[in-house]
Amino acid sequence: MGHLPKNSKKAIRLDAVAQDILTDKTLPLYAYRAKNKYLPVPGEGSPDAAVIFVGEAPGLNEARTGRPFIGAAGRVLNELLASIGLAREAVFITSIVKDRPPENRDPLPKEIKTYTPFLMRQIDIIKPRVIAALGRHAMNFLMDEFGLGDQIEPISRAHGKPVSVQSSWGSLTILPLYHPAAALYNGSLKATLIKDFKTLKTYI
Ligand code: URA
Repeated sequence: MGHLPKNSKKAIRLDAVAQDILTDKTLPLYAYRAKNKYLPVPGEGSPDAAVIFVGEAPGLNEARTGRPFIGAAGRVLNELLASIGLAREAVFITSIVKDRPPENRDPLPKEIKTYTPFLMRQIDIIKPRVIAALGRHAMNFLMDEFGLGDQIEPISRAHGKPVSVQSSWGSLTILPLYHPAAALYNGSLKATLIKDFKTLKTYI
């Protein structure tokens, strides 16, 4: 997988998205971010990534550093990436909501609605071949967004089953996966995730 130089067009456009998130004071979680001296977590990785991983919302470690998936769930994600020989720097990792919700509560529908245009801009810039949805919130949002809202199944049935959708840059695979944090609470899901990552590898 090629890495574009830092000043590539895609990198510049991704930086603009990150800058818009940083400076938009109308975002519903902006005041909470500022009060706690947190950072937004726009996402990171290769502008040229073939696969984008989409989680739900940053946690405390992420909000303190501005980097996605660096806590316990991130360690699981790193292991899963390593299990298929994929470097973290070669993919793009982000979430639906770009700020930490208070006390890690689920994002509210209004928050999801306000933050999703940033995610859609990132997807549109990177133009990946695969979007790996980490957990049911990301899966539900992406299925809806790509016109397959009527085919949504519970994550227990949908995980590991690639779904082909059309995008403006051609066909795209959405692969629903359990959220890596789920493996922290339920050890048996780790083996399922490892298996589903093997499926992911065949699509990139
Ligand atoms: N969970 C997410 O969905 N995103 C993060 O950045 C961390 C945990």
